[in-house]
Amino acid sequence: MTPLPQTTPDKVRRLLVGLKMPRALEAFDDVVRRLEQGELSGLEAVQSLLAEEFETRETRRIKMGLMTARLTRIKTLADYDFAFQPSLERERVLALAGLDFIERKETVHFLGPPGTGKTHLATALGVAAVKAGKSVYFGNLAEIVASLEKAEREGALQNRIRFLTRNALLIVDEIGYLPLTQNGANLFFQLVNARYEKGAVILTSNRSFKEWGQIFGDNVVAAALLDRLLHHAVVIHIEGNSYRLRAHQNLLPETLAPPQNLAQNSPKRRRGRPRKDQA
Ligand code: ADP
Ligand code: MG
Repeated sequence: MTPLPQTTPDKVRRLLVGLKMPRALEAFDDVVRRLEQGELSGLEAVQSLLAEEFETRETRRIKMGLMTARLTRIKTLADYDFAFQPSLERERVLALAGLDFIERKETVHFLGPPGTGKTHLATALGVAAVKAGKSVYFGNLAEIVASLEKAEREGALQNRIRFLTRNALLIVDEIGYLPLTQNGANLFFQLVNARYEKGAVILTSNRSFKEWGQIFGDNVVAAALLDRLLHHAVVIHIEGNSYRLRAHQNLLPETLAPPQNLAQNSPKRRRGRPRKDQA
């Protein structure tokens, strides 16, 4: 039996199946119709088919990348209201979004009181990195240390350290909220040491570097950590009010207020840059 003669559209459909381009296959009939009706040129038809497939793949790649990075709460720099934190140098933060710090394997510290957007900014840079095709891992210090302790108990510490070292960017959130055990601090040091000059790190903390001895329960470990984490480092201080509490700042007892004097900031003046004559 002679095979049925194949039409060109059939051949294209078969090629799209063979090339595993399901989204382009789905779009094919519509593109052909628009081509026949003169809405698209031949080249535009090709472009349209490829774009359909490409966008579907990009969306999937980014979704997977965010999942493996454990970036579940998506934040972007565009959502960040810089006017609310006039102390923060917008240009420096925007420069980080160029992601050169990842190529240079630098460490970025976001320091500031609770609610000032440290996690937001760290997440936004992580999301930008995933979109740019970089591998990222996000965790808070307590979770990361717990995972190292578990791996150690199971005799798999080196595997875990290797896992946490192979991403282009490791984000360690919330340094200083909970003190670590001595073993926890040692394990974290092993991780930092293994990553040193191998990959970029972003750290967020509500505590100053002077307090790292307390956080890590040992001045020697803290000094060794800072030695690595302040070499090739960018330190960004945010010295403002909590965005979470922006509507309720006046309800906070003075003892819980951030270090700067909130009493001077009437609700009207809290937002935005101080006027020149007041600065
Ligand atoms: P931190 O980690 O410093 O405690 P977060 O980044 O968790 O603070 O911020 C708390 C909440 O407020 C988040 O939902 C964050 O998206 C939001 N937020 C903080 N600062 C800003 C800001 N300047 N503009 C917009 N949203 C902000
Ligand atoms: Mg936070």
